[in-house]
Formats: sequence, C-alpha cells, structure tokens
Amino acid sequence: MGQGGRRLHALRSHIGVVPDRPISRETRETRSRLYDAEMGISVCPYCAVGCSQRVYHREGRLLSIEGNEDSFINRGTLCPKGSATSGLVQNEHRLTGVRYRAPYSDRWEDKPLDWAMDRIADRVKHTRDRSFVHKTPDGRVVNRMTSIAHLGGATLDNEENYLIKKLFTAGLGMVFVENQARI
Ligand code: SF4
Repeated sequence: MGQGGRRLHALRSHIGVVPDRPISRETRETRSRLYDAEMGISVCPYCAVGCSQRVYHREGRLLSIEGNEDSFINRGTLCPKGSATSGLVQNEHRLTGVRYRAPYSDRWEDKPLDWAMDRIADRVKHTRDRSFVHKTPDGRVVNRMTSIAHLGGATLDNEENYLIKKLFTAGLGMVFVENQARI
C-alpha cells in the first residue's frame, strides 16, 4: 500500500468505513423484514411429523412462519405444505364463521357458533338415544353405537386425538373412529 493508500485507509478508519468492504449506507441500514419482529414457537398443523415452526409477528400482524432450527424433528426445515402455513392463516377465502345448510335447502346460512354447538350436541344425543345398544340379542354387554362415525384429519394434534378417543369411544360408545393421517 502506497502513501496515498495508507492515508485513504486512515481516513476510512477514522470515519468508520471498513476499508476492504465498501458498503453503501443504504446497504448498511437495510434490515430483514423480520428484524425486531416478535417470535413464537408453534407446531405445523398439517401432519403428525410435528415439525416445529417459528411464527414471526409484529403488532398483532403475522409476518412469516418458518422452520425452527432448534427442533430436533425438522432442524429448521419444512416441507412445501408446512412452508405454506402462513397462507392457511392469512387467506381472504378462509371461512371464520359457521355456515349451515339445512336439510333439502339449496343455500347456506350464517349462524352463531353457540347455535352450531347446541345443534351438534342435540343431534348427537338424539342419534345416540335412538341407536345405542347395551346388550346383543344373546345377552353380551357391548355398550356400543354404530350410527355415528368420526373421521379425524391431519391437523388434529395428540391432545385432540386423545380427547376424541376418550369421549367418542369410551364416553359415547362409538365404534368407528378413524383418521386419515398415519405415520
Ligand atoms: S406437513 Fe410437512 S412441515 Fe408440516 S409437520 Fe408434516 S412434514 Fe412437517
């Protein structure tokens, strides 16, 4: 380095510019869109692999959902489906209310959630009361109901599946409890 170069180096050092990495102020001040975002840990809702996710948000607004590097299950990765989780959460087509189509009707109606929960409970009780079998004709105690079935989905977690099994099988006597997601 000649004398001029040494002066320039000294000047750059004086004003805080790293001499061998010329970076503009704009570049230096550029931040990731996740910079200073809050982050929570969640689990991918799609399948029973249970990949861990980092959910980035700011001021109540979801910014991004990414794989959690600290997870021994997925080590920061997500499959294409898990990578699209934010599209599941933030989607203008997502239904957030109860829609009901009455028997023989050709249109949907918006209903309150409480109304739907009461309606489901009423229909389940009615059907169970009508079809519950305590004993078979030859006297064997079975306490079963074959008139209602339950099909679970991939987004059910362990706790939900535990409660479904406990309530529907042991509680109501339901025989057909299935799930489309298997490992
Ligand atoms: S859907 Fe993909 S990202 Fe989600 S838990 Fe399953 S394998 Fe993991």
